[in-house]
Amino acid sequence: MKRRDAIRNLSIIPVAGAALGCGLPLESMLAAPSSTVVSAAPKRDFFKELGVTPKINAGGTMTFLSGSLMMPEVLDAINATCHDFANMYELQDKAGAKIAEMLKCEAAMVTSGAAGALVLGTAAAITGTDRKKIEQLPNLPGPQKEVIIQKTHRYVFDQSVRNTGVKLVEVNDAAHMEESINENTVMALYFNAAESWGAPPDKIKHEEFIAIAKRHNIPTFIDAAADVPPVENLFKYQNMGFDLVTFSGGKMIRGPQSAGLLFGRKDLIEAAKLNASPNECPIGRPMKVNKEEIFGMYAALKLYLEKDHAKEWQERLDRITTIGKQLEKIPTLKYETIVSPGPANALPGMKVTWDQSKVKITSREVVKALNDGTPSIITGGGRGNTLNIGVVLLRPDQVNVVAKRIKEILEKAV
Ligand SMILES: *Cc1c(COP(=O)(O)O)cnc(C)c1O
Repeated sequence: MKRRDAIRNLSIIPVAGAALGCGLPLESMLAAPSSTVVSAAPKRDFFKELGVTPKINAGGTMTFLSGSLMMPEVLDAINATCHDFANMYELQDKAGAKIAEMLKCEAAMVTSGAAGALVLGTAAAITGTDRKKIEQLPNLPGPQKEVIIQKTHRYVFDQSVRNTGVKLVEVNDAAHMEESINENTVMALYFNAAESWGAPPDKIKHEEFIAIAKRHNIPTFIDAAADVPPVENLFKYQNMGFDLVTFSGGKMIRGPQSAGLLFGRKDLIEAAKLNASPNECPIGRPMKVNKEEIFGMYAALKLYLEKDHAKEWQERLDRITTIGKQLEKIPTLKYETIVSPGPANALPGMKVTWDQSKVKITSREVVKALNDGTPSIITGGGRGNTLNIGVVLLRPDQVNVVAKRIKEILEKAV
């Protein structure tokens, strides 16, 4: 660890020590001589103060577990900017312009997560820049507005779209989509990861979906919230011709959990901004992002685009080997690396199995023991004789902790 990094990371060390229950002296947690440590005064432990258990995340980017951890550079950006006021209209415009340049699209904005982006993008498609409609939403006079969606793409987050008062019109195939579009249709929504979530193959593929909507002059919106890596996906869908795209900021881009990206057509982003905070009366006012999310999201995206993705991928595979080597000492235990095909959460993880007549514990029991233990470890779950371990959200110092805890639990069952 470089000196700068050591100092920067000081703020997380006491929490780390507490989380691991390891009582390691500060210096041994840092691969730097103690002379480089500026201040070793004990930090206030907010987890302890509130009696909240810190969790090790050996699962994935789950909102209930606070998403992902912000990269140190993101915290730096927040710390460096939080001592001054900013005009939020100006900041959203200028950050948006920069983000659009980075994503090679017309326009962009920072939203309160991908779910917030779904609300604002739909609102934009309904109201345009009409101030009256913006004030009235979701109770517009006249017939209910409609959004086209493939039947197999219905999912929990379409609630964010319905939030604007629209009716979702489910379509089965291309012909059905053609005939379902009418004068009340305001948008067509594509859930990119429907197949990742277990839906049958898309009846209407991206290109055809866009072509039909374009013929009828209906804007298209794709939800790709969890769909990096690969980094190329941040460019793919605007290039295909989607008018609006959203990604979560707090998943693998590792920005603030309360941030997301909405980008695409300039007129729609302008309309989305009018439907958002800091304006006082639009539907998006309760989905406020402040300058911390905006600067943080900008810093996270920049870092994500510039980082060495091949190296990061290799580090993840190495973590699996590190944990696997330790677990292999358990009789009958086998592990393999599984890479989910995506587009959502296309990341490497571990599948661990053992002969449950020799090591007498079920995977569910291991999951529970890991959660209930100290430190508390959340895994990707267990079913049958398989235990799923996620490695991508572990801090480097947690890789061996996870291996050790799983090994301890299994050894007791031999
Ligand atoms: C996570 C997720 C969302 C919500 O994203 P937030 O950034 O947490 O608001 C929406 N859609 C899909 C497909 C997701 O995976």
